[in-house]
Amino acid sequence: MSIARFWRETPRRYNLGGSKCTICGTAYFPPRPVCPTCPQHRQSLEKMVPFQLSGDGEVFSFTVVHDAAEGFEMQVPYVMALVKTVEGPILTGQVVDVAPGQVQIGLKVRATFRKLREEGKAGVIHYGYKFSPALESDVRPPVRGPAVPVEAAAPTTSDRASA
Ligand SMILES: [Zn+2]
Repeated sequence: MSIARFWRETPRRYNLGGSKCTICGTAYFPPRPVCPTCPQHRQSLEKMVPFQLSGDGEVFSFTVVHDAAEGFEMQVPYVMALVKTVEGPILTGQVVDVAPGQVQIGLKVRATFRKLREEGKAGVIHYGYKFSPALESDVRPPVRGPAVPVEAAAPTTSDRASA
């Protein structure tokens, strides 16, 4: 993995770590200690596992913001969207790299790790995820298939042998 890719990929992984209920299979972000979907909440207490969202999803709802919140003044107008991830959880985030007029419901997007805003004279910089349109040419290793907990996602010897 190149250095550039390492820095692009690693924070995104940290930022989109959720949890998943191994009883009913529902994924959550941010992670939850119990599963509100299961009828017997207490049963899910020991059954939640860390779960990594891919960052892929589509715009579920959005709004064009003209009156910026403090720290966002330079960015108006911008789009804030609810993004339904392929894994299920709905994330809120800014949609970038596309004109506000071109954002529509169903637009395929991908989470990227970006500077969110700068705060005050001290210049405290906040980082987090934003969404940008998913391009066909944006080739990435396949992450589809059965969702697995983070621990099980690491390549194993058997994975390499079968590749
Ligand atoms: Zn559940």
